[in-house]
Amino acid sequence: VDWIRPFSKSGQDLTGLRGRLIQVSQEELQKLHTRPSSFVMLSGLVYNVTPYMDYHPGGEDELMKAAGMDGTELFDQVHRWVNYESMLKECLVGKMAPSTKGSHLLRTRAVIPPPSTRALAPPASAAPPADRDRDGRPRYDWFQTDVSVHLVVYAKRKVTCLSSSCTSVDLQAGVLREALLGKMSYMVHLRLAGEVEESVAVQTAFSVGKIQVSLRKKGRTKWTDLGQALDFHNTFVLKKERAPHYCDGVLVSKTEVNHNTLIFRVKLPPGTIRHVPVGRHVYLKALVEDAELVRPYTPVDQSLTASPQETDLFLMVKVYPDGVFSSYLSALHIVENPGDRVLVSGPEGAFSLRPLRDVTHLYLLAAGTGLTPMTRLISLATQEMENISRKTTLLFFNRGEEDILWRGELDQLAADNPRFQVEYILSEPSDGWRGRRGRVDGALLQDVLLRPDGSRCFVCVCGPTAFTELTLRLAKQHGFRPEELHAFQG
Ligand SMILES: Cc1cc2nc3c(=O)[nH]c(=O)nc-3n(C[C@H](O)[C@H](O)[C@H](O)COP(=O)(O)OP(=O)(O)OC[C@H]3O[C@@H](n4cnc5c(N)ncnc54)[C@H](O)[C@@H]3O)c2cc1C
Repeated sequence: VDWIRPFSKSGQDLTGLRGRLIQVSQEELQKLHTRPSSFVMLSGLVYNVTPYMDYHPGGEDELMKAAGMDGTELFDQVHRWVNYESMLKECLVGKMAPSTKGSHLLRTRAVIPPPSTRALAPPASAAPPADRDRDGRPRYDWFQTDVSVHLVVYAKRKVTCLSSSCTSVDLQAGVLREALLGKMSYMVHLRLAGEVEESVAVQTAFSVGKIQVSLRKKGRTKWTDLGQALDFHNTFVLKKERAPHYCDGVLVSKTEVNHNTLIFRVKLPPGTIRHVPVGRHVYLKALVEDAELVRPYTPVDQSLTASPQETDLFLMVKVYPDGVFSSYLSALHIVENPGDRVLVSGPEGAFSLRPLRDVTHLYLLAAGTGLTPMTRLISLATQEMENISRKTTLLFFNRGEEDILWRGELDQLAADNPRFQVEYILSEPSDGWRGRRGRVDGALLQDVLLRPDGSRCFVCVCGPTAFTELTLRLAKQHGFRPEELHAFQG
């Protein structure tokens, strides 16, 4: 939140007190409720809000509702997401003096509706503000400074990678498209009122479900509204009812993992942010021999132990000699700057981490590139959830040793982390192979899917369709209930 910057840089004395902090009595505060000096008390601190009048998205009238009063309750209702201590620090006048007997400070009432967002106001048929606040539907607000514009979506639910919700932002040619995706999808879609730089910053207050998208203005113009509504603006629908939205990715590197698998690093445009939650995939789309082809791929981190990369996507792709899309991808050029392009969708898929919360034994059964969704799950289970005493076991099925992806990394992690173990099962091993041989079957699962007394187990499966279906069937025969199983499929 940096609306204050233009003022602080301008050298203006925002409080009118030349840097001194004073104690303000209730009587003094109540007198300061009109321009040129309007003071507001928020949680015991007094601010001179006059310089903000011209920038408040709800206009001067809304701001003046709190002038000369305790505005804490009103502020919390309308701008819960804003950290006013840092935002208003340049306007801090001082503290409230302890109250004298019999004096009571007027409080703004929390039932006052949120500020008007003018061009962005909901249609006349929408429920009144108080009801809108309670209906569980996300809503948005905005504010601006001389140099920036901030869109704030208040999701009214926790926004967390653990519940698999995520934010997807696309800013292209003055059109802002922000979608908040979980099981439900909320979308803001606007032609912005003014020109902005093609870069965005997203800040998420996960626990309160507040997502702030910050844009930089190209000129120091004051916007009277945020923009003009485009298709599906301000809609809240089931995620599966939204068509995938593609952005233009550039291939910036291609790294060999083994003899037939590569990691493609895809750079997204400057105005695009994709948070792909663990276990979700994206679609790649391209025109191959005049046919539009789409294939799903599951982003991985740069390595098993790397912290998640925010902007670029890393895709581990097995190249099939007769595979149309994977062969097309492997032939794309990387060396030129910029490299070849491929269209990338937002996150898709139905995996949720919620059922894993209390799990004591997590079994991951992967075949070939079925490893991809497991990689981030392994990182999460062994790093981020490390306070939970959970054992994570990867059973990794391949033909030969040369097909095992990230073997060095997996072995290293197992050596470093007693809560993770990996076992390789090969269907066509060399004579010297000392590990398990064969394919997935009932006897193998009986042997490895242990269910100690008092344990809570969960099984994730990913691989070719035949492998996935057989493994699920066997796991059910072995006593696993449907809610204890997840298959990563298209
Ligand atoms: C949800 C989901 C996530 C996926 N994530 C990844 C990923 O992260 N990395 C990745 O490499 N792939 C992934 N895939 C598979 C991927 O989408 C493509 O199917 C794969 O790249 C082959 O596409 P293609 O056009 O090259 O092959 P196609 O032209 O569609 O198929 C040609 C031939 O390739 C072989 N083939 C294709 N797919 C498979 C398979 N799954 N198993 C065995 N043989 C096969 C067969 O011989 C087939 O006849 C995922 C699939 C799903 C459903």
